[in-house]
Amino acid sequence: MHQPELETLSPDRLQGLQLERLEQTIERIRAQNPDYAARIGGPARIRSLDDLRSFGFLTKEDLRQAYPFALTCAPRESFVRIQTSSGTTGTPVLNAYTRDDVAQWSEIMARCLATAGVTSDDVFQIMPSFGLFNGGFGFHFGASAIGAMIIPIGAGRTELQLRLMQELGTTAIGAIASYPLRLMEVAQAQGLDFARDTKLRIGIFGAELWSDEMRARIEAGMNIRAYDIIGMTETGGVGLGIDCPARAGTHVWQDHYLLEILDPKTQEPLPDGERGEMVITTLTRQGLPLVRFRTGDFNAILSRDKCACGRTHLRVDRLTGRIDDMVKVKGVNFYPKQIESILLKHPGVGNDYRIILTRERGKDECQIVVEVQPGYRDLDQELRSDIYERLGFHANVQTVAIGSLERPMGKALRIIDRRTH
Ligand SMILES: [Zn+2]
Repeated sequence: MHQPELETLSPDRLQGLQLERLEQTIERIRAQNPDYAARIGGPARIRSLDDLRSFGFLTKEDLRQAYPFALTCAPRESFVRIQTSSGTTGTPVLNAYTRDDVAQWSEIMARCLATAGVTSDDVFQIMPSFGLFNGGFGFHFGASAIGAMIIPIGAGRTELQLRLMQELGTTAIGAIASYPLRLMEVAQAQGLDFARDTKLRIGIFGAELWSDEMRARIEAGMNIRAYDIIGMTETGGVGLGIDCPARAGTHVWQDHYLLEILDPKTQEPLPDGERGEMVITTLTRQGLPLVRFRTGDFNAILSRDKCACGRTHLRVDRLTGRIDDMVKVKGVNFYPKQIESILLKHPGVGNDYRIILTRERGKDECQIVVEVQPGYRDLDQELRSDIYERLGFHANVQTVAIGSLERPMGKALRIIDRRTH
């Protein structure tokens, strides 16, 4: 563990720390940004963690409208860096970091990397971009704090990634979750065998949804143990939590974040085990502290018990998707990740697929184009009936040869919705 004492705090101590830090966070907002304080309201004095429920919510839209500095709670001259969301849907969310915020980010990322087994002996190759997107720098700060040797190559250049991996003895990598597929594909074309030709043992992947079936394929294909890391620009970047060797849920660092799971309709808290919207309050952020930020991500608390790995911080399930990622076809709601799980169960299916939604004569049509290994072109009927059995609607499945689908730069392209809403 990176910080054994903090990572194994008793539930009482954790709650005590959360209450103390919640008070400090609210005090900071009230002292530094009266408009922000007025927006969230809340009682004059916080007596227990339950008092959090009398505060208002923040949404992603609120944070976008606050661009660049309207919700910040530290003097402008104390900021040392910024990160932003991609802004593909308009104004981005900007997070401004003080020195202490960078230290906080380093700390939670170092914990995440250590949870995955990274030590100062590792050679850590960082594959997300170094830029406004938080991935590259997040891994950098964490691996620096641990003292691993960093290869800061950033995104893309897959052939160079593989060459450095072999020549410099890379043992651990961090990447967005679809990138290992690209690495495996290029490695295969080159005749590179990860087990034989590299020292790779750990992969830490995030920023995209990936199914357990995809994880199994990555682990087998790259001869690694793969970990799922979570976090977002709003919460201060990647590092909010990670799953551990016990593979029994994703630990969320409770001394830094307060997590609620709420019914998306009523905003009432849901019992542990039930899926609802993840709502995050930051407890140690200064530049952009968040009070009851509605993430739009669906999740459930799996356990608050001490984990087999020794950590006491609560565990949530793997993400299934944002509420707005949910797709409705022929009256059936599903997440693209569910389709991925069904497809990848078949050994003949490759790692790339597209879900194309159209509307013809007022009716939804769902076409799934999936790459298959040679000799598996007749899988379409079987996949079609599997999808009907599991999800309850008919999709047109088209099998194509491996390599037929375009490989996008950056994030994976899984779903194309051509319906006009
Ligand atoms: Zn654990």
